[in-house]
Amino acid sequence: MIPLPAFTDNYIWMLHDGSQAVVVDPGDAQPVLDALRTHNLRLSAILVTHHHPDHVGGVDTLRDATGAMVYGPARERIPEPLTRLNGGDACTVLGLHFDVIDVPGHTAGHIAYYCKDYEGAPLLFCGDTLFSGGCGRLFEGTPAQMLASLDALAALPGNTRVCCAHEYTLSNLRFARAVEPANTALADYEAHCKALRAAGQPTLPSTLALERRINPFLRTREASVVSAAQAFDASAGASGETGVFAAIRQWKNEFK
Ligand code: ZN
Ligand code: FE
Repeated sequence: MIPLPAFTDNYIWMLHDGSQAVVVDPGDAQPVLDALRTHNLRLSAILVTHHHPDHVGGVDTLRDATGAMVYGPARERIPEPLTRLNGGDACTVLGLHFDVIDVPGHTAGHIAYYCKDYEGAPLLFCGDTLFSGGCGRLFEGTPAQMLASLDALAALPGNTRVCCAHEYTLSNLRFARAVEPANTALADYEAHCKALRAAGQPTLPSTLALERRINPFLRTREASVVSAAQAFDASAGASGETGVFAAIRQWKNEFK
């Protein structure tokens, strides 16, 4: 997997087999066209997770330039023509089988793509649903929807490589440390990511096993996260795990 940097903090993930390539969420065509030329690849498919412009802005240009097939969520406004996918559907690109998972919350029709074996381990393209150390903002969904979506992703195998669409890791971890100051795995991971960024390297992909240990949005049943949520909002515990999740999400929205 190659994360092609785009805009200030997007990654357009590219997979290739030496001759054909697929990209995920090309918000901008130019980084993709440059990579195709550099590696002498033909673009055969584009996978889209949701409708935001920083994920679809390059789709028309790339389709016109390459003839690539476009796959995207059934229930969102994405530039046509494309093959529309719902949770439970599958698509095959580059000979790889991807299962589609519905993950509403950031947007109402957001989907994720899961391949259970890519070069020996599973691979997940989760767009703006799950980030390393964080999750997407709730623009079109409820806390209950987003929690269910994150639960569905967190249930995938621990060795799943998590290919998120943004390099938000360091700012997410600064917030995660405020939620769980005693989480030593989190402190270790933050130091590791700071070193990567200082060297100009991406912090991604992450793994689900790691996210389950450090990401507060996957840890809303942990006593440490429940008590932190209640310290932020005394009523957070009253509505169960959804209330805890909603409080942590609100706290993150306000966190400076
Ligand atoms: Zn988005
Ligand atoms: Fe985005």
